[in-house]
Amino acid sequence: MATSRDRLGTLEAEGSSGRQGYSGVEVVLSSDPATPAPLCPHGPTLMFVKVNQGKEETRRFYACSACRDRKDCSFFQWEDEKLSGARLAAREAHNRSCQPPLSRSQCVERYLKFIELPLSQRKFCQSCQQLLLPDDEEKHHEHQVVGDVSITQLKRPSKLLYPLENKKTNAQYLFADRSCLFLVDLLSNLGFRRVLCVGTPRLHELIRLKESGGTKSNIRSLLLDIDFRYSQFYMEDSFCHYNMFNHHFFDGKAALEVCKTFLQEDKGEGVIMVTDPPFGGLVEPLAVTFKKLIAMWKEGHSQDNSQKELPIFWIFPYFFESRICQFFPSFCMLDYQVDYDNHALYKHGKTGRKQSPVRIFTNIPPNKIILPIEEGYRFCPLCQRYVSLENQHCEHCNSCTSKDGRKWNHCFLCKKCVKPSWIHCSICNHCALPDHSCKGPKDGCFICGELDHKRSACPNISTSKKVNKAVRKQKQRKSNKMKMETTKGQSMNHTSATRKKKRRERTHQYLCS
Ligand code: SAH
Ligand code: ZN
Ligand code: ZN
Ligand code: ZN
Ligand code: ZN
Repeated sequence: MATSRDRLGTLEAEGSSGRQGYSGVEVVLSSDPATPAPLCPHGPTLMFVKVNQGKEETRRFYACSACRDRKDCSFFQWEDEKLSGARLAAREAHNRSCQPPLSRSQCVERYLKFIELPLSQRKFCQSCQQLLLPDDEEKHHEHQVVGDVSITQLKRPSKLLYPLENKKTNAQYLFADRSCLFLVDLLSNLGFRRVLCVGTPRLHELIRLKESGGTKSNIRSLLLDIDFRYSQFYMEDSFCHYNMFNHHFFDGKAALEVCKTFLQEDKGEGVIMVTDPPFGGLVEPLAVTFKKLIAMWKEGHSQDNSQKELPIFWIFPYFFESRICQFFPSFCMLDYQVDYDNHALYKHGKTGRKQSPVRIFTNIPPNKIILPIEEGYRFCPLCQRYVSLENQHCEHCNSCTSKDGRKWNHCFLCKKCVKPSWIHCSICNHCALPDHSCKGPKDGCFICGELDHKRSACPNISTSKKVNKAVRKQKQRKSNKMKMETTKGQSMNHTSATRKKKRRERTHQYLCS
């Protein structure tokens, strides 16, 4: 079996960065079509293996690709486990029962009825996150219902719906208007006519808003997202209920065809894919999915175009640079800092702004991508790309080396630029934080156990630290509770208290050094 790995720190990372050894769960991607993975409500599951102290245990298991929390999807099966017919049937029934109550075409039908209603009858139930038709009202009379839903509001569902912030599944962080407008203008200036939005609902709606506003932009957009609440607001040709961790279309072949047609139109010319996946890890299954979308786009090509690549914007934290470039060597990371609305830390604020660690990875030549001067970017003629003002060109490295927006310093012993907070440690023989512990592992990296690099060079360093912290905190909180319950689909009831708590948990996970 051809296997490859991805660190899945969020699943079961244990211990702190100061500990000798690492325990965790890694995803094992099999390319063997003879043993298809069993299905959970979110499509084909992924195979995982437990790793202790860098050594893997041999028994592998299947778990949900989309939900990294057992309470969102409880699927579990050992690789070698044989299930009885009765259990398989029960599983199938369970999978069916987890699907959205309405079919895609029923949603469209409801939407068409809804927009025909007079303003005074257009209601939205906040408790159920649902547009209501007159017949539904009775069922919702004790719920939080807002009335007079305008067409303008219908065109901005990401403002009507609350963001699903559970970090382990949806991790819905919506673009701040500034970043979203920047993206729409950029796409239009680059001449794209179609945008495949994978997990970017707010970008999708802004593209459509500009389009219908009759301004210059002439761009169409198709949204693929696992959040089926969006199916209430869009026709079949502009939204597909989709899982980006296993390339699963919940509405089967018809939805897959929508996506295929969209990518292959105009012989594949003028289309770009923009994606902003949850930051919880899983780079490899995402890369596998994106390669499938690329292949779908390529099928519609004539032979002479075979060298061309599907243009992509993959929005992700900068510390994933080496992982992403490993799978997509033609990608480079732009210096632009992507800001979010519901992310207190990465918001542009009056009190001074915490810099966002989120960047755009792309195969479009960076010299074509103009970053806004008024937001503090400048063009570096030597690097032939736009960089942030603080990112100074290092004559020794011959590049603008900063990754995090701060000014980095060149270390002549390490022969490279390093973060301003680091100093050279003669024991470790490289630069590190002044208060680091020099007792690193004798053999290999103690985050991932690989022998070819040390912890400091581990592509997972920033995430695993945060994840470990978050996991420890969570463990304390849950200490006496073993949560094994099964929840049906995504719960739509949310109190503001749990939302606040989730916000706090998220803060721990996504802060970067
Ligand atoms: N910044 C983007 C939103 C990114 S948040 C914007 O403003 O448009 C991540 C998005 O990915 C959310 O919309 C979430 O619903 C979606 N998502 C999370 N898990 C997913 C999965 N497994 N498959 C597809 N979409 C997913
Ligand atoms: Zn699942
Ligand atoms: Zn340098
Ligand atoms: Zn150094
Ligand atoms: Zn040291």
